[in-house]
Amino acid sequence: MQWLAGVRMIFVVAMAWLALASPAWSARFSTVIIDAGHGGRDKGAFWGGVRESSLNLAVARDLELLLRRRGINTVMTRRSDVFVSLGSRVAIANRYRSAVFVSVHFNACRDTRIKGAETFYWGPSGRVLATAIQRRLAPRVGTINRGIRRHGFTVLVGTRCPAVLVECGFISNPGERGRCATRWYQQTAARAIYDGLMAYR
Ligand SMILES: [Zn+2]
Repeated sequence: MQWLAGVRMIFVVAMAWLALASPAWSARFSTVIIDAGHGGRDKGAFWGGVRESSLNLAVARDLELLLRRRGINTVMTRRSDVFVSLGSRVAIANRYRSAVFVSVHFNACRDTRIKGAETFYWGPSGRVLATAIQRRLAPRVGTINRGIRRHGFTVLVGTRCPAVLVECGFISNPGERGRCATRWYQQTAARAIYDGLMAYR
């Protein structure tokens, strides 16, 4: 029965290859950790009366609603204007298996001409998720696509699951700040992140 052992071996190798090669296999998740950046005494960026921490929470809540409607478990690292340390955010995320982590932020820069959306990642799976989100985010909210970038933010390096940090727009740019402060912009950004998550899945 030498041939049967051979067939079995081919089958085992094929299954192992499928497990490694199929993105659907590795990208499955049952929980999304939604991390609204900053909060409480940490306002984040603060320009023209607009607080980044408030915008982050608005988008995070919109994203939570979309995911729950789809029946996907969500965990919010904060759901009000409170301070949560970066270490606590990482610890919350690392409690869950088969999860993905999405940190929501808005950007700022001394050069107030700069605007656009960008998504950061650290690990290879984060890169795939960042790509799926970023390609939808910038065109949908109608801003410059600053692409995906690898950066060692604490919440990206410390989390064990695929993790991204989304910068939805620049509140230091007067025009973009006005748009970011609208519910339309926040809901559209949340929808783009949601669709990116679904495509990744
Ligand atoms: Zn921020």
